[in-house]
Amino acid sequence: AYLPMDLKSLIRDIPDFPKPGIVFRDITPLLRHPEGLRYTVDLLAQTCKQAGLTPDYVVGIESRGFIFGPPLAYQLGAGFIPVRKPGKLPSAVHTIEYELEYGMDCLEVHQDAFDSGCRILIADDLIATGGTAAATAKLVQKIGCELVGFSFIIELRDLQGRQKLPDAPIVTLVEY
Ligand code: 5GP
Repeated sequence: AYLPMDLKSLIRDIPDFPKPGIVFRDITPLLRHPEGLRYTVDLLAQTCKQAGLTPDYVVGIESRGFIFGPPLAYQLGAGFIPVRKPGKLPSAVHTIEYELEYGMDCLEVHQDAFDSGCRILIADDLIATGGTAAATAKLVQKIGCELVGFSFIIELRDLQGRQKLPDAPIVTLVEY
């Protein structure tokens, strides 16, 4: 156990990225901070355990879900399954389509990644509108897995992303 850390002091605001009017919450200062990184992963895992989230697999969404997903899976004694941008995975895939502000986007996951009835935790660095996590949840449920919950480092509350998610526990560490 160690003293609580102010994670917000390690998250940097970048105005007008990726578009004018958007404030991007940049986690790279947190990632490069040795104690900050360890504290974040440990707190995430501890909070998941306290919430009773005991997945067989952590499903991480490209790209920043690949940073926190694997160490979280390691600490929870789970495996890690990547959800990737189109064309990256080598074997047969399920496609996850979701709506953006303008148009559609899609993600892919290996068809043989999930055993029937397995327990899944979805992990990403940040929830904004909730579209990405909601689409991933829909796929996980469609193929008959049990969705045990979601974990994010950051929640942008004004966008009400959690309202798009199915009813399952949501772990977040920092809110804006
Ligand atoms: P949503 O689908 O909830 O609108 O957007 C969440 C996705 O976009 C996540 O995969 C997240 O990594 C990325 N994202 C959107 N805005 C930000 C931001 O301000 N900072 C970071 N680090 N990621 C963001």
